[in-house]
Amino acid sequence: MGAPIRHYTATTPGGEVFTANVERDFRYDPYRDFLVCAHCGWSPSLLTTGKTIDMAGEHLASAHGAVHGLSQQENESFRKARLIVLPIAAVLLIGLFVCLRS
Ligand SMILES: [Zn+2]
Repeated sequence: MGAPIRHYTATTPGGEVFTANVERDFRYDPYRDFLVCAHCGWSPSLLTTGKTIDMAGEHLASAHGAVHGLSQQENESFRKARLIVLPIAAVLLIGLFVCLRS
């Protein structure tokens, strides 16, 4: 499947942690994001991208009893990739401005 880009985690009253991942599949153009439960293979079809945390939280709560501490974390490697790409984009933009002004 795709590369996990984000994790939604929630905890049961007993302290067990459950995770649902957002996986980005680059085989599609444009890419598609899938929400996949790491514990039972649940994967709804994503119609909107804005409410994935609600869908993940609802599933983790209703299917696994993980009702506490719903949180999202971005995948570490994707976060690092963006930290590298942003300065490069900034440098390119500055270069473009310099070219346009001269
Ligand atoms: Zn599940």
